[in-house]
Amino acid sequence: MISVEEALEKVLSYVDVLGPERKPILDCQGQVLAEDVYSTVDIPPLDNSAMDGFALRAEDTRGARESSPRYLVVVGEVAAGSMPTKEIRPGTAIRIMTGAPLPQGANAVVQFEDTDEVSRKSSKKDLSRIGILCQAKKGLNVRRRGEDIARGNLILQKRTVLRPQEIGVLASLGHSTALVIRRPIVAILATGDELIGVDQPLAPGKIYDSNTYTIAAEVSRYGGIPRILGIGRDSVQSLTDKIAEGIDADMLITSGGVSKGDYDIVKDVLAEHGEVGFWTVCMKPGKPLAFGVIKKVVGRTKRKVPHLGLPGNPVSSMITFEQFARPAILKMMGKKVLAKPTIRAIIEGDITNTDGRRVFARVMVTRRGGQYRASLTGPQGSGILTSMAKANGLAVILESSKGVKAGDMVEVQMLDWVEEQGMAKALPIVSIVGKSQSGKTVLMEQLIAEFKKRGLKVAALKHSHAGMDIDHRGKDSWKFSQAGSDAVCISSPDKLALIKKSDHDLSIEQILPIIGPEFDLILAEGFKKSKIPKIEVHRKELGDDLLCCPEELLAIVTDGSLDTLMADSCKLPAFRWGDTAAIADFIEKNLLLNKQSNIS
Ligand code: AMP
Ligand code: MG
Repeated sequence: MISVEEALEKVLSYVDVLGPERKPILDCQGQVLAEDVYSTVDIPPLDNSAMDGFALRAEDTRGARESSPRYLVVVGEVAAGSMPTKEIRPGTAIRIMTGAPLPQGANAVVQFEDTDEVSRKSSKKDLSRIGILCQAKKGLNVRRRGEDIARGNLILQKRTVLRPQEIGVLASLGHSTALVIRRPIVAILATGDELIGVDQPLAPGKIYDSNTYTIAAEVSRYGGIPRILGIGRDSVQSLTDKIAEGIDADMLITSGGVSKGDYDIVKDVLAEHGEVGFWTVCMKPGKPLAFGVIKKVVGRTKRKVPHLGLPGNPVSSMITFEQFARPAILKMMGKKVLAKPTIRAIIEGDITNTDGRRVFARVMVTRRGGQYRASLTGPQGSGILTSMAKANGLAVILESSKGVKAGDMVEVQMLDWVEEQGMAKALPIVSIVGKSQSGKTVLMEQLIAEFKKRGLKVAALKHSHAGMDIDHRGKDSWKFSQAGSDAVCISSPDKLALIKKSDHDLSIEQILPIIGPEFDLILAEGFKKSKIPKIEVHRKELGDDLLCCPEELLAIVTDGSLDTLMADSCKLPAFRWGDTAAIADFIEKNLLLNKQSNIS
């Protein structure tokens, strides 16, 4: 059996980012830009008004108040879309609408509400004069030419995913089309003698083919173009013919026929026409999975298409699609973020993992009391598609876990959340923050020792403002660095150190991938500005106040009394300094996945 990660890596190694196509901007939603877009215009093109009001010289409003207006002569009016015909001289104003170009000589706009226009109108007074009721600063309500976009600048970078706002930016630049990475065409084939199409009457022993529709809808959801090949029968000829119809697609997805049943001939057909891998993947549901490349000579050209053979059971086929086909489609579309958005939630029922596979359990996630809660959506058989219809997430139980009990923290893949640029996967990381001299490092040492005692693999991460002390002068690593190397890696039989130069202070999201994924817990010290969960160390002698806002903290560790005003008023869990076991329990409960649970 291979792991989910190994299977995914293999699938991704068979697909590449596709070529570009130029098309109308409205058809590009969700696609990835294949060109850098520069601006050939200034936006706004001219200084213009941000309000309906009067364009004037700020100098002319000096000292203006409601009780002593400054009166100006109104010399004209300018609407959005037209150019001013008059200019502003001292003592004059021009009535101006939002978006209209600012007249020559004007340097501010006073909105109608701050003039006496309304009262003039109601008392039928002369409108060739206007009373200004407040003093305006230069630039008031003026939008500067090029303040949004300046001509010649790089506005949208290649590889940007086009969302409604980017499509709007393209339109604002006057682009009617964009060059984007094209959408993959995904051929979909259902297999099985028992299947009939949804437009046929149901016959004895038959079932409707649902996988075709689930898979096609999934393909569209992730930006691909589904091409439905229909139903292949459990015969070599039928499958061979159907597969040939999918040969010029970017990917072929079949469902069914990959398990150990007598009629499971997909394998045999593939073995004859392509290079295939059949795997049992260490997951549940969805153990049998086929993957390979189908090759065929069409006319004079050799064609080949990556093929993913999903299991037939409707739930298995959807869950394996999510884990393997979805990232492959996203990769072909040029997307960088392939990981499914994941949260941590408290599970509301027990899940057992009897045979050490990765379990994907269908759950409904809700948010209550500031925390996500996941409840199982009923029977978890791999044929029960309605349990998938009731779910909005998949709780992931690792192969190393025997299961979880109600109340444990689990990782949940959110089925309906969009993969987002820059949305980091929820990781087991907590940062110890506090004022200087509050004892952060001591608490770090205590916690590291405590978690090691509990058998966890712990990484410590420290932010240091003042250089680092492993890079000693005169050592080889230092010499390499002096010679100009951008990174120096020193490895010995039992340790590895990487000194990598950086032109800016890296964020925690940039550091974590360098640390690596193999740790059960990452304890960080400092990083008070990052968004990771934080525990603040508080010392009475340094004052009652906290360094971070309470909303950003998970808990407080203090040497004051536990019901100090401060901890009490912000309702945060507070721990006594030195009560390391309780702090460690709290971190486990709030951050660690089910690895620690022991259901027997
Ligand atoms: P197989 O992997 O071909 O052995 O199929 C496993 C189970 O999934 C069987 O009960 C099939 O009837 C069912 N199944 C296979 N393909 C489909 C499909 N396209 N739609 C609904 N059920 C299917
Ligand atoms: Mg079958």
